[in-house]
Amino acid sequence: MRHFAIVGSGPAGFYTAEALAKDYGENARIDIIDRYAVPYGLIRFGVAPDHQSLKAVAKRYDKVAESDNVRLVGNVTVGSDVGIEELAAIYDAVILAIGAPHDRKLGIPGEDLPGVVGSAGFVGWYNGHPDFAHLDPPLDGTHAAVIGNGNVALDCARILSKTRDEFQGSDIVGHAFDALDRAATRTVTIFGRRGPHQIAMTPKELGELGHLQAASPIVDPADFPPLEADEALEPGQRKSITILREFAATAPDPAKPKQMIFDFFAKPLRIEGEGRAERVIVERTRLDDGGRAVGTGETYEVPASLVVSAIGYSTPPMPGVAYDEAHGHFLNDHGQISDQLYCVGWARRGPTGTIGTNRPDGYEVAAQVKAAMPPGSDGGKAGGEALDAMLRERGVEATSFDDWRAIERAEEAQARPGSPREKFVRPDEWLKVLGRPG
Ligand SMILES: Cc1cc2nc3c(=O)[nH]c(=O)nc-3n(C[C@H](O)[C@H](O)[C@H](O)COP(=O)(O)OP(=O)(O)OC[C@H]3O[C@@H](n4cnc5c(N)ncnc54)[C@H](O)[C@@H]3O)c2cc1C
Repeated sequence: MRHFAIVGSGPAGFYTAEALAKDYGENARIDIIDRYAVPYGLIRFGVAPDHQSLKAVAKRYDKVAESDNVRLVGNVTVGSDVGIEELAAIYDAVILAIGAPHDRKLGIPGEDLPGVVGSAGFVGWYNGHPDFAHLDPPLDGTHAAVIGNGNVALDCARILSKTRDEFQGSDIVGHAFDALDRAATRTVTIFGRRGPHQIAMTPKELGELGHLQAASPIVDPADFPPLEADEALEPGQRKSITILREFAATAPDPAKPKQMIFDFFAKPLRIEGEGRAERVIVERTRLDDGGRAVGTGETYEVPASLVVSAIGYSTPPMPGVAYDEAHGHFLNDHGQISDQLYCVGWARRGPTGTIGTNRPDGYEVAAQVKAAMPPGSDGGKAGGEALDAMLRERGVEATSFDDWRAIERAEEAQARPGSPREKFVRPDEWLKVLGRPG
């Protein structure tokens, strides 16, 4: 018998569990440990609430969690409730799938002013993440800005631009739904240091902006290279640029009161304001021969009382675990950190790719584990039983997959009209649903 602990119940953790469960069958017990009683990581707390079809991938993870050889152990934080070394002593292998929950800093003056928030915070706020449910971003101003040119930046800008009607069928949390409905936001400026050819935005997400009820996307035709230059792009990127070119060729719809302005070749230098964010000071850039953005010296200011920075994430270091400071994830060789310790997903390779990108990651690491300890072998470890005893002794209320089902049912039961569910946003609320004191 082999015992495996996967730390983190996001996509990477679940794909790894799926692969191990298939490879080992009855010859292994797999515990997926998560700090929260609610699983699936960014599927719940990151993926936009108006992208419900993407969240359906959780059904596949449900099946994994229901396997006889897999357990979900929720409400347990590795690093405080139980240490990595303690896990390594009772499991044959420990696989870190803790994602990359920390925002990368902008590193410019003014980023600590009230009104400047990281995308982890802003996204966590509208998705009901316990750390950010009370963020209360300022939505009283007419101008907001989003810094970054990836899909997360697009999510933030789109959520700020949607109408109440457009959230029907989403699972946006009530506090964000009401606050966004009252918001004064009329203009959202999206800053990118480089140009349209350098965006990391995918066609589907960009295409949606052309169909918003109340907002028009605005792109300056002068920002594009000659049309022929698009031919050198890979097909997905070419599609994205074609959509941006369409936006550039279309006049803003006068019936739509909001604008989403793409400000390319724009490098935020600092954020200014009297005790809160009021404006972003930006330097115009151009591309050098190596494709890097270099400042031109020309500066201008853009009003913004809410500034969301969406420039990437990092994994927090963990004591005793090798860490790659430059890239902000665990130091690893194809997922292996040390003898018994592995990592997958964003904790392995940083915050890039789609949900599906985590699948090959998980399968590759599972294959390495299998090679090191073939199915049928025995490591003599106690596994989950030892973990349970440890947690009991420490008074940690671990939760199960059945507990998650009970929370899910309670969330569905309190759904607002038109929404699949209304989320509980605090760990004590989750435990309360389960009738536990916490
Ligand atoms: C805002 C946003 C929107 C996105 N939208 C899309 C999209 O539309 N389509 C798409 O394909 N991809 C999208 N992605 C990317 C996708 O969410 C990621 O590829 C994926 O979630 C990464 O999986 P992961 O398992 O590595 O990390 P995560 O999903 O972050 O999971 C990490 C898990 O580890 C747990 N954890 C962390 N620390 C500990 C600890 N110390 N102890 C115990 N548990 C811990 C967390 O609670 C969490 O459950 C989006 C990402 C973001 C940030």
